[in-house]
Amino acid sequence: MLQESNTFSPVYTHYEDFTPVFGKAVLERHRGKLTEMGGFLDVLDRQKVEVAPVCAAWAITANRLVRADFERLLKQFEAGLKKAKPDALLLAMHGAQTAEGEDDVEGHVLTIARRVLGPERPIVMSLDLHANLTRRMVETANAIVGYHTYPHIDMFEVGQKAARLMLRVLSGESKPAMALRKLPLILPAENAQTHRGPMAKMIAAAQALEASGKAEAVSIFPVQPWMDIAEMGSAVVAVTNGDARGAQKIADGLAARLWNNKKQYEVKLHSVEDALAGAEKIKGGPVVLAESSDSTGSGSPGDSTGVLKHLVKAKLSGPAAIFLVDPGAVAKAAAAGAGATVKMSIGGCFDKKNSKPVPVAGYVRLISDGRWTARARGYNTGITTAMGRAVVLEVGQVQILIAERSSMTVDPELFRSHGIEPLYCKIVVVKSPNGFRAAYEPIAKGIFLVDTPGVSTANFARLPFRKIQRPIYPLDADTPAPEGLRL
Ligand SMILES: [Zn+2]
Repeated sequence: MLQESNTFSPVYTHYEDFTPVFGKAVLERHRGKLTEMGGFLDVLDRQKVEVAPVCAAWAITANRLVRADFERLLKQFEAGLKKAKPDALLLAMHGAQTAEGEDDVEGHVLTIARRVLGPERPIVMSLDLHANLTRRMVETANAIVGYHTYPHIDMFEVGQKAARLMLRVLSGESKPAMALRKLPLILPAENAQTHRGPMAKMIAAAQALEASGKAEAVSIFPVQPWMDIAEMGSAVVAVTNGDARGAQKIADGLAARLWNNKKQYEVKLHSVEDALAGAEKIKGGPVVLAESSDSTGSGSPGDSTGVLKHLVKAKLSGPAAIFLVDPGAVAKAAAAGAGATVKMSIGGCFDKKNSKPVPVAGYVRLISDGRWTARARGYNTGITTAMGRAVVLEVGQVQILIAERSSMTVDPELFRSHGIEPLYCKIVVVKSPNGFRAAYEPIAKGIFLVDTPGVSTANFARLPFRKIQRPIYPLDADTPAPEGLRL
């Protein structure tokens, strides 16, 4: 059960958003795919381990899973686990999932799993780099293994790593000792990439510890910042082979380093006007405008008109592409039919606080079933997204891909599957803070992070935090370092 939460999102999560499958269908969805579970299966199949698949459920980021649907999924998971009677359990979860009445879904799931498995049988869990680690997770799992990449392109390898560690635990070669160090720190996602900059150095240090044999797994979790819950903050988790003090020392050392370098993650955002003017100064395209405040992978609904309203009025030297979620607009365009010209207002349909609908007159070029399969090496490669019906509406040179349901936008295949080639565009708008870099950096002539209002803005002061523990950096500039952490 894998989802990232954003407790500021106007859109709540329901059972159907997870498109859950159970039993053997799990293998059909994940075997041979570049997901964590694909990585589990790769290792276990090679070692001829008998696999008892329980559940696979993934949902795009949004606000809390509603209570009744949470309980329904938990019941199905527990029943499947009891039936499977496994010797050990591998879990692939996000680590920052919430439900109504539960701020720590992963901790809750682990507690159920521990009750079913008892104290002896091991549980190893993989987590997204943006997980919000809780004490309960670390106390209940035997080992936790996080992604080492952002953009996330190592889901498969992290799955392999977790499965290999599990096999070592089962054979008695490894007796995991795990330690956590939590920090009162949230970081903007825009500047936490792992292929360069301060986070790249942190990951390199973690990998050096693993390679030296001092640790089984070292994971750095610069939590995604859009969760207003009490136990919120970045963390480091270290797993050693039986050395609890060593694990704590590693976690503390890397946490101190993250704390000391926290200012290096500050991010510069551009106004949309400046970004569009800047793009026109660059020869050729595509120039990528990243509207991270409406990031569909960060819990925003994908309905922002913050960039769109400027784009449809701008004098562009070439075509532009943008993704938008607006079921009403899709219905209108689909009713008018391909080849029709329609006048309507689009966008701003979910997050009415941050966006107003934009009136447009556009040409309906294409109507589709909205299904597309991720191809770029990275996020959920090989997995098909069903975003309901979708249309391509052309407003001048702006090609607007409008879908009934949300989708990740980090893979150019989203546009390609709908007849829009990003390579031929002057401007491509992605709704992502950083994940887009894996596929777009190699083809982009320029990149601008733009500042528009939204529930996944990097401008944390704009977010209505209430429950989060204070002080926390950077909301409180003078936040002291945690007690006992040697800086
Ligand atoms: Zn993430």
